[in-house]
Amino acid sequence: MHDTRDLRADNEQPERREKSHETSENTLPRRAFLRLALAGVATAGVGAKSIMAPDREAPESSPASPYALVIDATKCRGDGACVEACRLQNGLPKGESYIHLLPGGTEQASLFLPVQCQHCASPPCATVCPTNATYARPDGVVLVNTKLCVGCKYCMTACPYQARIFDEDRGVVDKCWLCLDRISEGKSPACVEACVVGARIFGQTEDPESQVSQLIASGVAKPLHPEFGTRPSILTYIIEE
Ligand code: SF4
Repeated sequence: MHDTRDLRADNEQPERREKSHETSENTLPRRAFLRLALAGVATAGVGAKSIMAPDREAPESSPASPYALVIDATKCRGDGACVEACRLQNGLPKGESYIHLLPGGTEQASLFLPVQCQHCASPPCATVCPTNATYARPDGVVLVNTKLCVGCKYCMTACPYQARIFDEDRGVVDKCWLCLDRISEGKSPACVEACVVGARIFGQTEDPESQVSQLIASGVAKPLHPEFGTRPSILTYIIEE
């Protein structure tokens, strides 16, 4: 991974946005789904307001144990459990979450694509930040130091996944922080725990026996829109069976 920003240990982490739960008629071919997905993200990602979650201390980085979160869209039922778990875990207002759930698929099979911060190794959100409020830890987790954020929203525009939201009450931008508080306690992120169909697989890539390592090594789990050049370091997706 490469990040031109200073990597700081004293961070803070806040919250973010989104609605979803939308379950519409799924008539698009799977091949076109990602195009729809990102188009949907583009409209859904901006305009978050009034997020009341408190600042949180981000635990120490563990660079020797990079995390991985594989989202198996072929299993996702679109019930929004991950969206709501994220909201509750991060103390977000009703209707807000760090996860967007976008519908798609075919007439024969539904497909849902949950989108959140991809924790990019080349994060444009960090590049445009005038105060270095956004930065990446050595293990790839991209965080926002809300004490440094001036609320300019450049990062919201720069993120091609529209993964950021603006907290109008605090005047800062925030996003998924991988539930580092839970991870430090040996737990999985709240979205992973809430997904009863196993569409979210979380682990550490240093363990070749882990399910995430094997999914990534097999090539079945791939980054979302690699052509963006952002090099997602933690999130990968299984789109087709
Ligand atoms: Fe930044 Fe967006 Fe990448 Fe997250 S997904 S690291 S917010 S560019």
